[in-house]
This record gives sequence, C-alpha cells and structure tokens, in this order.
Amino acid sequence: MQHKKFYEWSIKLLDVLIEGLFNPPPTFGTLFSLLEQSDEGRSLIRSLMISGVDICDDWFESPELKIALTKFCAEDLISPRTKGTGFVIFSLIPLMHKYGGGIAVGGSGALSEAMGRCILHHGGTILTSSPVEKVIVTSGTAKGIVLRSGEEILAEKAVISNLHAKQIPFLVGAENVPEAYANSLINLNQSSHRSICTGYALHEAPNFTGGDEINESCTVTFATRSYEEFLRIYDDYEYGYTHTEMPIITCQTRIDPTRAPKGKHTMHLFHHEPYQLADGGAARWDEIGEEIADGILHALQKQTTNMGPDNIIGRWVETPLDLERRNPAMIGGDYNHIGRYLHQMMANRYLPGWGYKTPVERFWMCGPSTHPGGSVCGGGRAAVQAIMEELGIDFEKVIER
Ligand SMILES: Cc1cc2nc3c(=O)[nH]c(=O)nc-3n(C[C@H](O)[C@H](O)[C@H](O)COP(=O)(O)OP(=O)(O)OC[C@H]3O[C@@H](n4cnc5c(N)ncnc54)[C@H](O)[C@@H]3O)c2cc1C
Repeated sequence: MQHKKFYEWSIKLLDVLIEGLFNPPPTFGTLFSLLEQSDEGRSLIRSLMISGVDICDDWFESPELKIALTKFCAEDLISPRTKGTGFVIFSLIPLMHKYGGGIAVGGSGALSEAMGRCILHHGGTILTSSPVEKVIVTSGTAKGIVLRSGEEILAEKAVISNLHAKQIPFLVGAENVPEAYANSLINLNQSSHRSICTGYALHEAPNFTGGDEINESCTVTFATRSYEEFLRIYDDYEYGYTHTEMPIITCQTRIDPTRAPKGKHTMHLFHHEPYQLADGGAARWDEIGEEIADGILHALQKQTTNMGPDNIIGRWVETPLDLERRNPAMIGGDYNHIGRYLHQMMANRYLPGWGYKTPVERFWMCGPSTHPGGSVCGGGRAAVQAIMEELGIDFEKVIER
C-alpha cells in the first residue's frame, strides 16, 4: 500500500511541476517563501533538498523497488545518492504513470523534421552543416553571427543560442563578459556520469528468457540484485571506472515498425559510464569503446536466447567522447550540458540571476543549459516566453494565432 500512498502524494505535486516545465521559473526566494506557507510546502522543501536514495528510504523497504526508483535519478545523469535529486523521483514516477513515455514514429529526428517544416512554412530559413564561430557584438549588443565559412548573418531582433553556457565567452568574445560571470561559468558542475550508446540492426527482436511480458516491452532496464552493489556502481563512475552489467535495452521496432525494413528490428543498448576514465582519461574511450560495447552486449546475451552474431546485421557505437565530437555543445559528452542538481535547476539554471539572458544585449540562451534542462520536453516554450517579454512581443497573442 505504501507505493499507492507515494503515488497519491507525488501526483498532487505533478501539475505544479508540469506547469513549471513550460514557463520561466520563479526565483528560489519566491518559490521557497511560497512553499514555506504550508505544511505540505515545507515537506516539499525537504524533499527537494534530499537525495533520491533518501526519498526511497523515507517511503520504502524493498531494495528491488528502491533500485527501480533510484535508477530514474540515474537516467537524469545524476548519482542517486546526490542531495537535491529527490525531485527526480517524485516528478518522473507520477509523470510516467499519468502520461507514459513516448517515442516519435520514424525516430527522434522525425520530431526535428516536423518542427523544421513548421519554420519553413512560416517563412523561416534553416541552415545545416553551418557551424557558428562567433556572435557579432557591437557596443555590448548582439548584431548577428559569423559562420565558420566566414559568412555573416545579421539579426534584426535577437541572436538565440542553445549551445553550452560555457561556450558563451568564446562566442561573444571574452572582452564582452565580466570576469566574475566567466568564472561562474567555469564553475558550473557537469552531470555525475555520461552514457555510451550502441545502435543495432537486427534480424529478430531480442527474446528475453524472462518471459512474454518482457518481450512485449519496448524498453527493458537491467540492474544488479543488490542495492548496495547498484549504488556502488554510481560511486565507481565518479572515480572513472566503467561498467557493463546494467544496460537499458530499447527495441524501437516493437512499437514502431517503420524504423526497419519489414520484419527486421532496431535496438539501442544504452549504458551509464564515466567521461574521464581512471586509466587514461577521456582519450582512452577510443581504445576501449568497442570492448565496453561488447561487454554490454554480453550482459544482454545472458538474459536472451537469440542475441548471437547471426542475429546482428550491424552496429554503431557512440562513446561519451564520440558524442562530444559529434556535438560540440555537449561538452564532456554531457547531454544535459550541466548537471540537473538543485543548485543548477529552475531560476539557478544556467546561472542564478541570469535566466535566459547573457551579458550581451539581444543575445539569449535556451536549450539544455537553461531551465528546465536537457531532454526532449518542450522546454523551449519557457525560453520563448522570457525572450518575447524582453522584446515586447505578447506571447499569449502569438500562441492564439
Ligand atoms: C544517447 C542519448 C540519449 C538520450 N536520451 C534521451 C531520452 O530518452 N529522452 C530525452 O528526453 N532526452 C534524451 N537525450 C537528451 C536529448 O537528446 C537532448 O537534451 C536534446 O537533444 C537537446 O536538444 P537541443 O535541440 O537543445 O540540442 P541538441 O540536440 O544538442 O542540438 C544542438 C545542435 O547544434 C549543433 N551545434 C553544436 N555546436 C554548434 C555550432 N557552434 N554552430 C552550429 N551548430 C552547432 C549540434 O551539432 C546539434 O546538431 C539523450 C541524449 C543522448 C545523447
């Protein structure tokens, strides 16, 4: 019954949290003074400040349940024992219960393509393979951008970037940011761990020995049996040690057959890993990436009947180092840009007091470095509201159109 009580408690907070995802956040001062007005609010403050492990200890006894719940914290690239991560548990659990998870038919790229068609439909232009080298700044105001090709594109109203907050001084020029601000950017904390992602083309979907119910699932996650062992793995990541026994297995074609030719399948094996390896730093990923991917596949092979070489048509491997190379905004292979710790959440993201602004007028931030952080969650809506307000555009009127 305790899990029902937990759900009833957390679902009450969900609407508030959902509202917070799509709107610019209040400052910590405002939020906390509001919460301090009631018993429920005061209890929420405590829950915000403690860790996922602490929340589970408050509510549950079963180690299996604690592992299942705290793995949600870890999906957010934060170690479940880190203080200030409790909110991940009481936001993700009711969120999944009420709305479930979702994937785009045709792959996540289909979502970007749909948004791209919307931009083109409204007269916008999209340039791809056009890295931005610099923001043109004149008298402290952003006037446009310079591409790596040397081409200059001037901005009528604003320049908005979803790159990493730490890139701001390089984009606008160090002379355009105060020293204290630049130092605060350097001190931003990245996530506790990163991920290795491997993609497979398969003849058959994995056949789990665990039974039919598992085989019906699009996503299956592995963990150790012992809670202590599970938590120690996240401690190991902090010290640069790799693991292969706890993949998340997503076979997209179980629910979206468009991903592969008729009858064939696609699968991602995703595993948390450190970025800086204890033996050789990040550069060592180029040596051990394939070996780690093999280890993760082996973990799956032990729980399935058909994941031998005959079933595998092909695979690609993306280590944290590969991810950083593919997407330079994901510094250190961190797809949340900076850790989703309480001190870097809501109005404290990317830096307290800055919201979506930067020291350069008309140059704004959005994307994973800002509230509500990384993930495909529609968080850009909050950034748009804040920027439109600065530009004197009525957000409500634009939404009505
Ligand atoms: C392996 C993996 C698994 C994930 N799983 C999930 C999940 O299950 N659910 C979820 O919600 N989120 C997930 N995420 C996170 C999610 O993908 C990101 O938070 C999201 O893509 C951020 O979107 P974005 O458009 O702001 O930025 P990005 O997707 O990072 O896009 C930024 C783009 O800008 C380009 N770029 C970089 N530098 C420059 C430059 N100087 N000039 C021009 N362009 C540049 C990059 O190449 C990239 O194409 C996952 C990420 C990874 C890597």
